[in-house]
Amino acid sequence: MTKAINKKTLRGKIIIIILLVLAFVVYRLVYKKSKLKEKPAVEQAVAEVVVEKEPAKLEEPEKPQEVVGCKSDEAAINGVEVAAALQNGEAATWLDKNGLSKVACLTFDDGPSARTSEVLETLEGHGVRGTFFVLGKQLESEFGQDALKKTYEGGNAIGNHTYTHDYAHLYPGRKLNLENFKAEAEQTDAKLKEVLGAGFVTRIVRAPGGFCSWKGMDALHDHLATIGKAAIDWTAESGDAVSGPPKTAEQIVEYTKASVGDQRLVVLLMHDAPAKKETVKALPTIISYLKEKGYEFKVLV
Ligand SMILES: [Zn+2]
Repeated sequence: MTKAINKKTLRGKIIIIILLVLAFVVYRLVYKKSKLKEKPAVEQAVAEVVVEKEPAKLEEPEKPQEVVGCKSDEAAINGVEVAAALQNGEAATWLDKNGLSKVACLTFDDGPSARTSEVLETLEGHGVRGTFFVLGKQLESEFGQDALKKTYEGGNAIGNHTYTHDYAHLYPGRKLNLENFKAEAEQTDAKLKEVLGAGFVTRIVRAPGGFCSWKGMDALHDHLATIGKAAIDWTAESGDAVSGPPKTAEQIVEYTKASVGDQRLVVLLMHDAPAKKETVKALPTIISYLKEKGYEFKVLV
């Protein structure tokens, strides 16, 4: 009898122990599951913090690398300094300070045009580069944009020649309208960035018709100075745009030689336009002449 009771008690104890073990196992499983559920929640929170940070980064896009005027520094000289030196009659001092003897800057206005590729071929063939003062309106077409890219890729410098070249808009009554001029120059700057990349900037401006041809230009000079830019004219002309009958290539060469004279710092005015066929023809002789005279070819940036 006692044995039977003891057996019953033992069985009961075993059942209780099994139940306790089962309860513990179930508890552990449930606990583990709840922990597993918690973990992704923590990860999600971390992800949210990371996601929150990313748009903040996007708000400050990396500044594109700035390119001033020209792709390569090789032949570049500071156009703002040169403009100031010319204005103050200190060209010789500037050259001496920079260890330069004789410098020629070939400049081409009004492009890009149907003549640009011929000009570029000639420059390349002679191992020299030029400075191209371009018009924003010439960059509206794909053709113009391609010509600008080619000019830039060839190591030439790019300057701003306003958007329209319209004298009546830029200088009504022969007097500068600063707001119109500024707007056009800015429009062209934007176009240059669009074609050459957001990092492209040019510091040099050539006023259509020449800086000295208009009244009230001091305001433009002051405005450009405040933004680290300068307007630059020329010290010699090819004569390819002077009034009178169009010149032949031979006449352009002679005109250039006389205009260059014995200056040590030459900024030569030429044009890149469909009608300037004779300029393109004269260019090889002009380059050879300047080389013979000991000029080093530079571009203005
Ligand atoms: Zn022009």
